[in-house]
Order: sequence, then C-alpha cells, then structure tokens
Amino acid sequence: MLKENLKEVEKNILQACEKAGRNREDITLIAVSKTKPVSMLLEIYEEGIRDFGENKVQELASKYEEMPKDIRWHMIGHLQRNKVKQVIDKACLIHSVDSYRLAEEINIQAKKKNIVVPILVEVNIAEEESKFGIHREDAIQLVEEIAELENIRIEGLMTIAPYVEDPEENRQYFRNIKQLSVDITRKNIDNVTMHVLSMGMTGDYTVAIEEGATLVRVGTGIFGARNYK
Ligand SMILES: *Cc1c(COP(=O)(O)O)cnc(C)c1O
Repeated sequence: MLKENLKEVEKNILQACEKAGRNREDITLIAVSKTKPVSMLLEIYEEGIRDFGENKVQELASKYEEMPKDIRWHMIGHLQRNKVKQVIDKACLIHSVDSYRLAEEINIQAKKKNIVVPILVEVNIAEEESKFGIHREDAIQLVEEIAELENIRIEGLMTIAPYVEDPEENRQYFRNIKQLSVDITRKNIDNVTMHVLSMGMTGDYTVAIEEGATLVRVGTGIFGARNYK
C-alpha cells in the first residue's frame, strides 16, 4: 500500500515539475514519518526514500538509532532550547528556527561538538496565531542576526501554509515566501544562502512545487492518516 501511495506522490511531483518547467532532481521528497512505526519507514526506505521528517526530538533520536545510517533526518517541528543538543548531530537540517534565542543555543551546542549546523528560518507567512514561525516583516532582520553565529549556516526558508480545502488558496503564500527568499538573496549576507525552500504538505505540495519549493514534506499522502493516541 505504501508503495502505491509513494508512486502516486511521485507521479504528482513529476506533473508539477512539468507544468512549472522544473527538473525533478531539484525537488526532494521528505517522507514525514511522525507517529509511524519503524516497520513502515523501512517499507519506503526499500523503495529508495532517504529523507525522513520528524517533528519531535525524542522520536527522531530513537528512529535515528533504529534505522539505517544513510538516512537524512529532517527536524521539522518546533524545537525547544533544552532539546537542541539531542538533535543537532542527528538532523541533516533543522527546518524550524524562528528566534534568535533558539539559534544562539544551536550555535553553543554546535560549537561544543565542533560542527556547523544547517538550518532554515521558519516563516509564519499567513500570520496564523496557532503557528510558530517569524512574521515576514521580521524575517530579514532575524536572518541577519543569525548569520553572525559561526556554527550555524542558513540555507533557506521554511513555511507551513494554512490548512485549506483548495490548495490554490495557498499559492499566494508560497509565492510570497519565494519572493522573500529572492529579497534575502539580493542582500548578499555572509554565511547565508537561500537555495532551500521547504514548503508544501500532502494537501498542497504540487502548488508549492509550481511556486519554487525545493523540499516538500509529505506525511499523510505516503503513510496514511496519523493516529494520535
Ligand atoms: C506533520 C507535518 C507535515 C506533514 O503533513 P501531512 O499533511 O500529513 O503531509 C509537514 N510539515 C510539518 C512541519 C509537519 O509537522
């Protein structure tokens, strides 16, 4: 079943690429495996998936131990400062940095381990109260501040668009955040690139790809509905 789901997602990604005149290689599918057992993750690992997304430090850390070592783990959930040290050497990318205080802690822990941690700045593009992320108008300043931290490398932006019935409603937000990344690129800030745009989930990843996503985060579309006990 997961194999069929994955095929469907892959087909949709290809279609979106064709529509937008983009190369399939420029988009990475992240399988969002939160709440799902390792057996299911292994099933799609066998199909070639190497990028997995988790939103809790504990869950990422334990799956990291259990799963093959060539997996790239993406930390996509809200990160508390006291959990930073458990995750920075396991995640290939932290998508959810939305404050200087958090970045500072990542920098401190990264320095101790003598590593440079790649991150994305999370932008709350629709300014939803229920969501984490910095507001668009404060994003450039935050990027400039974080850029000063030696053991962090900003690689782009991430956003979680609103939950909508019609994904077309989110096109404006994806376009807006792409524009923000272009604006930041033009500023030529040392230590900052904007080659990653993490946007698009099960309901709207095709629209996100049309608008420039380089990472799409798909959970339900691959693994089926989540069962929160
Ligand atoms: C859960 C989650 C996803 C995946 O959501 P689906 O709608 O199941 O595809 C993507 N991004 C983040 C940050 C998530 O927490």
